[in-house]
Amino acid sequence: MQNLTATRVLLPGIIGPYDAHVDLADHWNGFVRPLFTLDTVRQIATDTQAQADECGRDDVITAHVIDGDTGRSGEHRAVVLVVNWPYWGQDGGAKKATNIVEPTTYGLYGIGGSSWSWEFQTWDCRCEEKNPWHVTVCQCGELRDMQVAAPKGMRATRVSVDGSEAYPAFVAEHARYGQHVTPHFTLDTVRQLAVGTQEAAAQHDPRSAETVHVLETAPDTGGNRGVIVLHIDWFTEVDEGPKDAVRTIVPTEHGLYAVGSDWHWKIAGWWCVCDQDNLWNDNQCNACGLARAEQPKTGLDTAVWKVGRVLRTLVPAVTAALVDLTHLGHICAVFAGDVEVDLGDDTGPFDAETLGEADEILRQALDEAAGDLTGSGWERVPDKRSDRLYRITFPAVRTH
Ligand SMILES: [Zn+2]
Ligand SMILES: [Zn+2]
Repeated sequence: MQNLTATRVLLPGIIGPYDAHVDLADHWNGFVRPLFTLDTVRQIATDTQAQADECGRDDVITAHVIDGDTGRSGEHRAVVLVVNWPYWGQDGGAKKATNIVEPTTYGLYGIGGSSWSWEFQTWDCRCEEKNPWHVTVCQCGELRDMQVAAPKGMRATRVSVDGSEAYPAFVAEHARYGQHVTPHFTLDTVRQLAVGTQEAAAQHDPRSAETVHVLETAPDTGGNRGVIVLHIDWFTEVDEGPKDAVRTIVPTEHGLYAVGSDWHWKIAGWWCVCDQDNLWNDNQCNACGLARAEQPKTGLDTAVWKVGRVLRTLVPAVTAALVDLTHLGHICAVFAGDVEVDLGDDTGPFDAETLGEADEILRQALDEAAGDLTGSGWERVPDKRSDRLYRITFPAVRTH
């Protein structure tokens, strides 16, 4: 079976976007080869035919769905075809111009898969990364579904109660660190809250817990669902019965839900490698300027950042170093851009103590990683004398 990913595709500036299923390993000249449901093919047919009406048939390829009657076992019968009008006037005429599209075993149709320049629809993250539609979490941790425009006076961040799990939410623009906020959540996040609160209630005494519930219908043909969000206070239920315990949370005009508005939500934070505590909505560290997305992820990368900090105390322009692992992580060259810094004790800017401190940071990290460099940003450098020479590059820092 083909491994299909649900995504959205378009012909930039021409038609789309459309919901599509794509085998990510399958492409044509760098373009996507999408598969569509019959409903989507109908939309493509409408759009391409409108284009032909507008631009004339000479350069246009059109899609068509011709519905038949109901088949013997009640199935809907339809013929899908693609007409390449530029071929129509040539030898072969109608026959050459017409291409019948057979459905796959899953009833999907490949339209224009080896001739149209289909591309993924992208979404722009707040961190400026462009992600294909099916990537729902950006590398910086932001969710695609939170990229809707923030309501006026609010900003996107993450919130948590008691520093536990942090949920993406919109909060008042002026909210400060440590203050209580009234977060507004997307439906997607409310579904996560429902799971989270119900799991917590099951683990503790459910009678004293508060739970969130999302009741929803399957989407209609327009893709819209019927949704009801409930908040149940089980403590109230014990004393006063279900009628007083259940609250319906209606969405705001922006389609957001203020769930648990009295739960003592606070803006979540993130610790920078430099030990600065930052608000989630600050994408760059307030102290050192390193982006949240660029935080070191392994012990070895953290060590690289620390070595950079140590060396920069004496030479702020340092960018990279060479480390020879045959000598237990010994720094054998330091660079400031293209310039090699003199490591001589008497002649260069570093003293033995500073270099020793940097060596020691690397030694400890290599020890903890048991010499395993996979997943780190360490780059092997071919060398005649050592087969264990690595280049480490220090993250750029804010220069005040
Ligand atoms: Zn991002
Ligand atoms: Zn920092």
